[in-house]
Amino acid sequence: MRIATLAGGVGGSRFVRGLRRHLDGFADGGPHEITVIGNTGDDITLWGLRVCPDLDTLLYTLGGGVHEAQGWGRTEETHRIQGELAAYGVQPQWFGLGDLDVATHIARSQWLGQGHTLSEVTARLADRWGLPTQGIRLLPMSDEPVETHVVVDDGAGGERAIHFQEWWVRHQAGLPARRFVAVGMDRAVAAPGVLDAIRGADVVLLPPSNPVVSIGIILGVPGVRDALRGTTAPVVGVSPLVGGAPVRGHADACLAAIGVEATSAAVAGLFEDFLDGWLVDPADPAPPAASRVPVTAWDRPLLMPDVESAAALAGAALDLALSLQRA
Ligand code: GDP
Ligand code: CA
Repeated sequence: MRIATLAGGVGGSRFVRGLRRHLDGFADGGPHEITVIGNTGDDITLWGLRVCPDLDTLLYTLGGGVHEAQGWGRTEETHRIQGELAAYGVQPQWFGLGDLDVATHIARSQWLGQGHTLSEVTARLADRWGLPTQGIRLLPMSDEPVETHVVVDDGAGGERAIHFQEWWVRHQAGLPARRFVAVGMDRAVAAPGVLDAIRGADVVLLPPSNPVVSIGIILGVPGVRDALRGTTAPVVGVSPLVGGAPVRGHADACLAAIGVEATSAAVAGLFEDFLDGWLVDPADPAPPAASRVPVTAWDRPLLMPDVESAAALAGAALDLALSLQRA
């Protein structure tokens, strides 16, 4: 089976790790290949280093190096480099980069500086974390830099744009966002393998990633949305909202900015042109009868506190997809 997924950071990587675990439990011999198309709209250059937060969360989680409780960053991390930089007055200090994590950014920045594409660099990083040996292919959505910016009030009746990370991390999404702009998207093309992975998949799964700034940004890459509409594979998504609230993070603030209600049904509406099935928490109300997306309430809470529950959730999404064949 060839499974294609779109993924942000924590929600995406926990789901994909669960999916891998679920597939390993199959007695059918496999092999099953998972292609992960990662969001790079969160990317930022800090201290001269190229940081790709969502790709790194995927690498660390799938490679067994993630800080479990936090959901991102490295386990057993220290922050001595950041402390030294603070002593020099180097900005910004609102974004925490641990010492082990910095090594990833140095490696990436060095290889990018030598002329390698982000796809090539990501493949090299993924080798170190053992993703290929697990049958997981990690692709950035695009090799061109795309950065999500957030348009906020400037306090003087006008507006200004700040980098998504400044809005999310420094301001904790507390500044009302007027809109999101994917800077660089007009020059972006899908990275090698991205469109083929969707078109050639047997199943496409959307993890419960942020629908606006993770999935929504990937959908903006030219060709991705058309590939999802056109693929013969069933496309099934998992809601990132439980009981009308994000399980973690500020997806509700992101939805408010684009004028979409924070409900599982309203989020499904964002993808209704290509979605064949949508898995929601049993407590979430049924969507209006007019909804074009068939919604399935799972018989368990839609939560991934550990690998086993993530595997069960991914298995439920996969079973739903396999029950829905496209014409
Ligand atoms: P980020 O890039 O680290 O913000 O991660 P993603 O975009 O991949 O995922 C963030 C989304 O995952 C948030 O909107 C969360 O509500 C959702 N999420 C995280 N954990 C869970 C979970 O256990 N269950 C569900 N249904 N959603 C989750
Ligand atoms: Ca992210």
